[in-house]
Amino acid sequence: MSEQQLEAVYALIEKSEDALVRLCQDLIQFPTINPPGNDYQPCVEYIGNRLKNSGFAVEYVRAYGAPGDSAEYPRYNVIARYETGRKGPCVHFNSHIDVVETGDGWTRDPFAAQLEDGKIYGRGACDMKGGLAASIIAVEALIKSGVELKGAIEISGTADEESGGLGGVAYLAEKGYFSKDRVDHVIIPEPLNVDRVCLGHRGVWWAEIETHGHIAHGSMPFLGDCAVRHMGAVVAEFEDKLYPAMAARHTKMPVVPEGAKQSTLNINSIHGGQDEIERDDSAGLPAPCVPDSCRMIIDRRFLMEEELDQVKGEVTGILDNLETSREGFKYEIRDMLEVIPSMTDQDAPVVAATSQAIEEILGKTPDMVCSPGTYDQKHIDRIGNLKDCIAYGPGILELAHQPDEYVEVDAMINSAKVMALSAYKLLTNSY
Ligand SMILES: [Zn+2]
Repeated sequence: MSEQQLEAVYALIEKSEDALVRLCQDLIQFPTINPPGNDYQPCVEYIGNRLKNSGFAVEYVRAYGAPGDSAEYPRYNVIARYETGRKGPCVHFNSHIDVVETGDGWTRDPFAAQLEDGKIYGRGACDMKGGLAASIIAVEALIKSGVELKGAIEISGTADEESGGLGGVAYLAEKGYFSKDRVDHVIIPEPLNVDRVCLGHRGVWWAEIETHGHIAHGSMPFLGDCAVRHMGAVVAEFEDKLYPAMAARHTKMPVVPEGAKQSTLNINSIHGGQDEIERDDSAGLPAPCVPDSCRMIIDRRFLMEEELDQVKGEVTGILDNLETSREGFKYEIRDMLEVIPSMTDQDAPVVAATSQAIEEILGKTPDMVCSPGTYDQKHIDRIGNLKDCIAYGPGILELAHQPDEYVEVDAMINSAKVMALSAYKLLTNSY
């Protein structure tokens, strides 16, 4: 691309600053809280109508039968495709439209999308309606500038990322929307900061462990067998064996922040025994019984270097040992969620194109990072079998899901330029 044409694209993006702000504000004003999956349909129709006006063919796909899909909360997705009319690859920008609950601590209306000192505040501003807005402005500028492009550009707004993506990217990948037949390169504008390229994420295993006991009168606990004490023994073994073993394991994945470069385990919850007996003053009285069941949810995050079977075996090994060494110990374990780690090669086309674009626009060498938690890349990789995928977008990762979440207008403008340039490089094979 000649210098001049480049300048035309950037000038269009800069000129669109007000439109970008309005677009981002409009998106935030749909309170697409998930769960339950609120307002998906009006939000995707808003995106679809806009892109139709910019020359895209627009499809709406409802994930019938996906978890949470109902007449009241339909799981709607939008996929828009722009054909240049010349043979070439397809670059896809994928953003999730759902946001997490607002929580406490806001000093502003979470859905008013107030603009203040160059920042737009609101739930989803950073994660990730700012990124979605920036990608739309980027692509529109690229098309409007008249630069010669090849292939196709797609933009999707998808459901349910915050709850695992089954009614969103996973569903679309099953239906072939993310497949080698129609997509070559994928950029997910998650808030990873404007000067970083995110190659992938760690794996996840959620499981529920239940210990069993024997109910008896609380005044004679020796006649029963306390399931909570058995669970205490599990926690003690985790402290003694599992946590030190995990702390010793480090990954080659460039995970940020630093603490997430090792395997981690969160004990998400423990519930044991009977509920308190209801009283009128709602203070409750304890049930006078020995608990015969205790349940613990674990959230284990694992590394490329670990196999899921080993990760599970490490935990069940501890439980099996307790079964032989501890009198009365009985357990069950149930899998709740499994996500395999995903990481794109550092020399993959989308990584090269985006890194070069960051260097050219921002004048700095980008950091290559991996995310401590997962995002929709897992489905694009595992179901769609598309390996050329990264996350890149505006917004500060640490602000995601926080009160007073915001996105900076400057960061949206800069990342829009980077996205336009990387799309151009990918579409014209000039990276
Ligand atoms: Zn997100």
